[in-house]
Amino acid sequence: MSRYWSDIVSKLRPYVAGEQPRIPGLVKLNTNENPYGPSPKALEAIGQAADERLRLYPDPAATELREAIAARFGLTAEEVFIGNGSDEVLAHTFQALLKHDLPLLYPDVTYSFYPTYCLLYGIEAIEIPVDEQFRIKLSDYDRSCGAIIIPNPNAPTGIGLPLAEVEALLAAHPDAVVVIDEAYVDFGGESAVPLISKYPNLLVVQTLSKSRSFAGLRVGFALGQRDLIEALARVKDSFNSYPLDRLAQVAATAAIKDEAWFETSRRKVIASRKSLVGELDALDFEILPSQANFVFARHKSRSGAELLAALRERAVLVRLFAKPRIADFLRISIGTDEECARLVSALKEIL
Ligand code: PMP
Repeated sequence: MSRYWSDIVSKLRPYVAGEQPRIPGLVKLNTNENPYGPSPKALEAIGQAADERLRLYPDPAATELREAIAARFGLTAEEVFIGNGSDEVLAHTFQALLKHDLPLLYPDVTYSFYPTYCLLYGIEAIEIPVDEQFRIKLSDYDRSCGAIIIPNPNAPTGIGLPLAEVEALLAAHPDAVVVIDEAYVDFGGESAVPLISKYPNLLVVQTLSKSRSFAGLRVGFALGQRDLIEALARVKDSFNSYPLDRLAQVAATAAIKDEAWFETSRRKVIASRKSLVGELDALDFEILPSQANFVFARHKSRSGAELLAALRERAVLVRLFAKPRIADFLRISIGTDEECARLVSALKEIL
């Protein structure tokens, strides 16, 4: 430990992002990127905006983008908060909304950034185990808390929570903020956005990284009633009032408006997921029911570490997690059909 570190920094267990190796020909199925690329209209918008106007600061409120998102979801711009990736939106959410005197609840297994934020911001968290089928059991959340955060579909399991259950959670906890992290919702999940007008305690977080294939751009957003959004804006303006650069703002606005591109790419991912599940099943994998752009699967007789290493030798990269309960599961992002076929043929060689 460095003599200059604070207690908090010493205790941090930073989130470890998936590898981004630069290996030519690599089939990269480890970080849930979308293989079909961003909307061509969004790329064109970047080209048009990349000029001398970059000497000017961007709109700190990202007004045009917020208006485009609001129109897309049937909300007002005051009900939209923008951040530099949904990770940043989530960080601001943890800073702004979580009551430090009451615990935060989230599932165990879930997105491993949540415990990191809790350590960083000194928030007491209670991890609620998922059941034997890795499902979230609502009755286990029946306890006093300041907030609840659940990814829907959950990560890295891919399992979705029906909207009726999300609503039951909101109704049961009117004094707690319920954050639904919908990073993967467009691949078959049920969005909680229609519940926003009814529940002032609901915050929905989404990203352009997955269904809009813009992980490199770093744009995420939160949707909720004005009171929650105002809290996030206060935190943002106390931290960095320019979270989104000019190019990201124009590109994200064009991407949100390009509904046709979005529909085509998410449908292709859903179709490829279905056929990959069939292939993995035939290879003796146990596969959790996924509503996301990845599958979470373990082989009935071979260890996850062994498969990960053997796939890597064949230039196919998938993701493994250290948590003992899920240590044998491979999280496989849905690539193009050709990439999925390369994964399957590598597995056939190995097994
Ligand atoms: N939430 C969940 C559940 C995720 O898996 C991810 C991606 N790692 C994120 C949020 C963050 O995505 P981004 O910061 O790219 O918007």
